[in-house]
Amino acid sequence: MFKRTLLAAVSATLLISSFPSLAKTPTIDDKILRVGTDSSFAPFEFLSVEENEFVGFDIDMIKAIGKDLGYKVVVQNMGFDATIPALQSGIVDVVVAGMSITEPRKKAINFSDPYYTSGLIVLVQENNTTIKSIDDLVGKKIGVQIGTTGMFKAEKIPGATVVNFANASETFLEFDNGGVEAVIQDYPVVAYYLSQNKKGKMVGEKMDAEDYGIAIKKGNDELTAQINKSLAKIKANGEYARIYKKWFGTEPK
Ligand code: GLN
Repeated sequence: MFKRTLLAAVSATLLISSFPSLAKTPTIDDKILRVGTDSSFAPFEFLSVEENEFVGFDIDMIKAIGKDLGYKVVVQNMGFDATIPALQSGIVDVVVAGMSITEPRKKAINFSDPYYTSGLIVLVQENNTTIKSIDDLVGKKIGVQIGTTGMFKAEKIPGATVVNFANASETFLEFDNGGVEAVIQDYPVVAYYLSQNKKGKMVGEKMDAEDYGIAIKKGNDELTAQINKSLAKIKANGEYARIYKKWFGTEPK
């Protein structure tokens, strides 16, 4: 009897290991943290061709948090506008995508404590002398990334034609081709773009401060608390400052 039970147990184990699809789908209990991001948002997240993987400030930060909490971090790429639905449907556990903490989003998802202070800026062609700030965008053709705070800002400009793009790279590409007169996008992302020998200039002041937060499924307060604790830890032990310096070249502000 014992022998037969043992045999059954052994063959069940063999069956599962030879057919991995029969194994339990990894969940948070298996210590895998499924991270959703939109990988065209340098320097926060982008695909490194040399390393053939996602790199950037957000990626290093979530890896440091994952390591601290004992999770293996698995990054999944998706459109920025798909990140909140992916959290809600449980496709990912967290989203790290330079996502600004806003009141409407807070109704749909949990946010960690703020981890980076950003703000929007206007990008125009180098030889443009008429657009000096956001006030001069009335009636203009503006490129934005769909579902972002930049898009919401542009939609409020009277008479403007707002052209939505799937991601930041496509927005910049169309700007470079002269298809839009201006782009409204997060300041550090525009600054990084221009630092890569791209043509254009920023005009006007950086707009209202926007804090980035790590997004977690609404109601998952346990994971939110774990992440906040870990974020505080990496800020206190110098790991956050090391990552910040790696990507921005300065000490955190
Ligand atoms: N910070 C902006 C927002 O939250 C843009 C984020 C992004 O495009 N990844 O809407």
